[in-house]
Amino acid sequence: MDGDHINSYMTGPDESGRFGSFGGRFVSETLMPLILELERQYEAAKHDPAFAAEMDDLWKHYVGRPSPLYFAERLTAHLGGAKIYMKRDELNHTGAHKINNVLGQILLARRMGKTRIIAETGAGQHGVATATVCARFGLQCVVYMGAHDVERQAPNVFRMKLLGAEVVPVTSGRGTLKDAMNDAMRDWVTNVRDTFYCIGTVAGPHPYPAMVRDFQSIIGQEVRWQLAEQEGAGRLPDTLVAAIGGGSNAMGLFHPFLDDPSVAIIGVEAGGKGVDSRVEHCASLSGGRPGVLHGNRTYLLQDGDGQILEGFSISAGLDYPGVGPEHAWLHDTGRARYVYATDAEALAAFQLCCRLEGIIPALEPSHALAHVTKIAPDLPADHIIVMNMCGRGDKDIFTVARHLGVELTG
Ligand SMILES: *Cc1c(COP(=O)(O)O)cnc(C)c1O
Repeated sequence: MDGDHINSYMTGPDESGRFGSFGGRFVSETLMPLILELERQYEAAKHDPAFAAEMDDLWKHYVGRPSPLYFAERLTAHLGGAKIYMKRDELNHTGAHKINNVLGQILLARRMGKTRIIAETGAGQHGVATATVCARFGLQCVVYMGAHDVERQAPNVFRMKLLGAEVVPVTSGRGTLKDAMNDAMRDWVTNVRDTFYCIGTVAGPHPYPAMVRDFQSIIGQEVRWQLAEQEGAGRLPDTLVAAIGGGSNAMGLFHPFLDDPSVAIIGVEAGGKGVDSRVEHCASLSGGRPGVLHGNRTYLLQDGDGQILEGFSISAGLDYPGVGPEHAWLHDTGRARYVYATDAEALAAFQLCCRLEGIIPALEPSHALAHVTKIAPDLPADHIIVMNMCGRGDKDIFTVARHLGVELTG
């Protein structure tokens, strides 16, 4: 497929929420009125300067935006090619990009008069961001989490509880993120009147993928003016690189540049032990097929019978079994390229970044960085790469220690 007939990549989705043949709203009849009401309210908020002003104020004073655009001088010298910039979204409050979106959705929930926020979470990052903003506004917060994940992610479960959230372990199905998403949707239908469902990535039924992308687009919008400030007016990045779980940090960086054809766009999926290893990876675009999950049509990890497979990655935050529908579309039209980095490659990039830049990155952006280390040496010195440093690595030090054979006690 090619994208020659597409005039603008930035106008999507269409009215039914489709990006090409992806996206849409595959939900039960009982959910439909909720989705339509949400869409109506979001459209109104989007055009209300008071909503934007409230976002801007909290982004600045609560989250700490704008995040810096940082020239990684030693990494650039070490790789000996392209000039590498890092967008420092790991410096946001709560240590990742997730809060950009949560803040937007919760301000919308308040506008809609909702008092109870529900969310689902895998590794717990989205749950922590949601519990944080709920505490800030005194809203009730219920987080659905696969029972298996509750055990694996004890520190994030405790964080959510400290912040006043109720964590509900999901034992239905196989007790994974996918089952937690189903239970959250069920809760939403049952408690329509007071409840808002806060989704953590560019997935779910329309309007969620577009709405989450819009809230995360602050990342790319800042990069546009910050790079011009540092490299001269009008200077655009040559290549953008970001890690893909569901795809929200990547969509946030990419979207403001989709209609600039000189900007190459690369998404990096979690290759786990290698994409040939069938299920021991989490690369939906590189190793999956289209299907329907979480209310939208997109590329998914699935077996021959269409059963959703559980992804595998060293990085818990990349284990979403699908990918946002807009990425599926950018993939098929060729506007963006999708590659993967393995656990071992991410681990090597993680250590390189610690030593050369004094930044302990999360394992998720370490996948993006791993790809940067592959391409930068062959690019000229005037080629500018911007990679999204979407999370800090404090949460990952125990995982890294285990892989390096170091015993931590604490
Ligand atoms: C959750 C998370 C991701 C994956 O989610 P996306 O929607 O793909 O951005 C990546 N990095 C970090 C640090 C995360 O917390």
